[in-house]
Amino acid sequence: MPSFFSQDYRAARNRLLSLTQKTGDWVHEPIKHPLCGADGDGMFTDVFWRGPEDASRILVISSGTHGVEGFCGSAVQSQLVAKDMALPDDLAIMLVHGVNPFGFSHLRRVNEGNVDVNRNFIDFEAELPVNEAYRDLNHLLNPVEMPPEKLDALMVEIMRLQSTMDFLTFFKAVSSGQHEFPDGVQFGGREPQWSRKTVEKIWATYLSTAEIVAHIDVHTGLGPSGVGALMMAANPDEPHKAITAKWFGDMMVSPRPTREQDDTFGGYMNLGMERCLTDTWVIPMTLEYGTEAPEVVLRAMIEDNWLCHHGELDSERGRAIKERLLRVFYPDSKIWESQVLHRAEQVFAQALAGLAELSVASKERT
Ligand SMILES: [Zn+2]
Repeated sequence: MPSFFSQDYRAARNRLLSLTQKTGDWVHEPIKHPLCGADGDGMFTDVFWRGPEDASRILVISSGTHGVEGFCGSAVQSQLVAKDMALPDDLAIMLVHGVNPFGFSHLRRVNEGNVDVNRNFIDFEAELPVNEAYRDLNHLLNPVEMPPEKLDALMVEIMRLQSTMDFLTFFKAVSSGQHEFPDGVQFGGREPQWSRKTVEKIWATYLSTAEIVAHIDVHTGLGPSGVGALMMAANPDEPHKAITAKWFGDMMVSPRPTREQDDTFGGYMNLGMERCLTDTWVIPMTLEYGTEAPEVVLRAMIEDNWLCHHGELDSERGRAIKERLLRVFYPDSKIWESQVLHRAEQVFAQALAGLAELSVASKERT
């Protein structure tokens, strides 16, 4: 199996550009980010479209919402293009490459404003959600002073606290967005970010006349290594659950929160698409690949957050921290890469086959 993985943002983007040009039937729109990439050149969120412009059913695959996780998402997008498979009638594929190109290029999970783009799709007209549990952990997750030996002690304390909480409470504290500490981790921002505004424009332009959109946003860093788990937020009475179970077998479906404050998935892009495309049936999914143990991933995120606010990027320690961050979201392992590609091939084929059989009428019947 050829590798579709690239070693930096530029190479990843160029690979996808050249593959789409080679097959010849992809329409491309680059949207330039206001800042430059780590190599000094422009950064883009790129849209690639294949299939009829007025297709009623669209499979959307997005990558790099969490910047540095884009190495994986970009690779599975490239593989899909290279396969050049026949498309069913009345169906199109849209790839969104580099939703957060800053994080992808500069090796951060967050964006240029330290904002977790996947926590930014909240209603900013309403009162900001409060993450009280995060407040108590901020001094551990977001230390100002961090000599190397301090990190071990921080992690011991975080793990001790975790052992006193149930899983969901801890998960919410460290993983759901917080809008109070701009230099903390999981900061969801206080206004819509460039990436959010850009994808909302893309959705409005390309998807608003579609009847059905299945969206798969590709992530890494959660779950057993190399396993690609499909996840979705849906209530039991929604048709998504039964329909996707038919396509993929069982997937992780969490009920939607009844109040915004309870939302462990607060501000996810999946949810943003549903809110944006009010006349379209959106089936919002995340494909999440495991890499390392949760404490290893969290440790790398804490280090990177400290580095960006208080450390020196251009130093031996800075480079070592960046390398560790990269490798918890893109493991340096050919086995991991091939597991990722294999699973993506399966999921995308299942999604296309399922979507080809799906009509809006089946929503009412379910
Ligand atoms: Zn992610």
